[in-house]
Amino acid sequence: MKRLVVLGAGESGIGTALLGKKKGYEVFVSDFGKIKETNKDVLTHLEIEWEENGHTEARLLSADLVMKSPGIPETAPIVQQLKQANVPVISEIEFAAQFTDATLVGITGSNGKTTTATLTHHLLKDGGLEVALGGNVGTSFAGLVAEKSIEHYVLELSSFQLDGIVDFRPHIAVLTNITPDHLDRYDHDFNKYIASKFRIVMNQRPEDYFIYDADDAVISEALKKHSIRSQLIPFSVSRKLEKGAYIENDQIVITIQQKEQIMPINALGIQGQHNTKNAMAAATVATLLKIRKATIRESLSHFQGVEHRLEKVLKINNVMYVNDSKATNVNATFYALDSMETETVWIVGGVDKGNDYTPLLPLVNEKVKAIICLGVDNEKIIRQFSNVVDMMVETDSMHEAVQVAYRLAERGDTVLLSPACASFDLFKNYEDRGRQFKEAVRHL
Ligand code: ADP
Repeated sequence: MKRLVVLGAGESGIGTALLGKKKGYEVFVSDFGKIKETNKDVLTHLEIEWEENGHTEARLLSADLVMKSPGIPETAPIVQQLKQANVPVISEIEFAAQFTDATLVGITGSNGKTTTATLTHHLLKDGGLEVALGGNVGTSFAGLVAEKSIEHYVLELSSFQLDGIVDFRPHIAVLTNITPDHLDRYDHDFNKYIASKFRIVMNQRPEDYFIYDADDAVISEALKKHSIRSQLIPFSVSRKLEKGAYIENDQIVITIQQKEQIMPINALGIQGQHNTKNAMAAATVATLLKIRKATIRESLSHFQGVEHRLEKVLKINNVMYVNDSKATNVNATFYALDSMETETVWIVGGVDKGNDYTPLLPLVNEKVKAIICLGVDNEKIIRQFSNVVDMMVETDSMHEAVQVAYRLAERGDTVLLSPACASFDLFKNYEDRGRQFKEAVRHL
């Protein structure tokens, strides 16, 4: 019996353990930290052995195959030891892909992955395909494959998941954009992070497709350095393309295989330029998979977006409250501010991952009337924006931030939570932050 060791007992670890067990491996799950009680119960119930609060090295080193969860860095001592001992270390995506012949749609990028993947899934489902959504969102890919076999998977893929692939080959790959993020895991080398994103195409063949943002300068530059075997399908909001998707007269035009698909932007269920791009990418996938034009148009107009991503919460005294808690980096917040059509009271701050706020200055200058800082350390935000915004208030709880926003906002304004930072100083995670915002707004 082949021995599979699963490093980490989170979503992808549990999925891999289930699938491994089903496929006849002897599975051992090892977590350096504590394992959630519910996950322990799942493992115990299936008679899968596990350990927590440390690794039994000898047992790990004798594995035939190791699945490393995406949260564990390459530099972790146990990973280094495994590599030295020549034990293959792969990601859950790689492991799961061996056990399915389904058509795979892989979606990666710095921002927009969840929105694009969820929308793509929605379009394919409305088109009548048998399809499941997973990977970095919802259930892990391995968990889905363990459940039952399905004809199509739409997978959200993080760069960490792509780092651990060997043969994984999506029939359709989507790259939404590349901006600096997670650089702490890439030796602070942007090029390494870019290379990681491009792994999504490394096993593609001429019959496969690569959909990407042609307006993204980082992607265009990187394309020159990678030889890509699949068919390139760019999308652009700034220029007309012969093949791919572009904007003309406020309409999305998609031209593939001599066929044309047209959709007015204002009929989309999600707003903002970034969401137009996400819709273009998702509709291109649906077109490639032969979903009918009318179905795509209809389905695009019904999709209302994903929670915590520019989510409209409530209108109170003619002030709209918008929850964009998922904006954990500057680029996401850029698009949030870009999509604001009114004067804005902006709630920002948290754990700064080395942010450069300069790209936001023109938008803040144009649209933001007040800044409410919500973080333990707000000094950098105050320093960056005090010249452009007169009103700045420091707060240290969501309740207080929303109360202050309520006082400062006037009829017709928008209150926008778009932190540009991680949430771990004051909240459990971005979901907790978004939920607390919505709670506080509902109690106004
Ligand atoms: P991811 O899964 O890559 O984190 P999400 O769809 O969850 O992406 O969106 C994360 C944040 O980025 C949200 O604040 C959202 O409004 C913003 N966003 C969504 N799509 C894009 C895009 N194409 N470009 C830039 N920002 C985007």
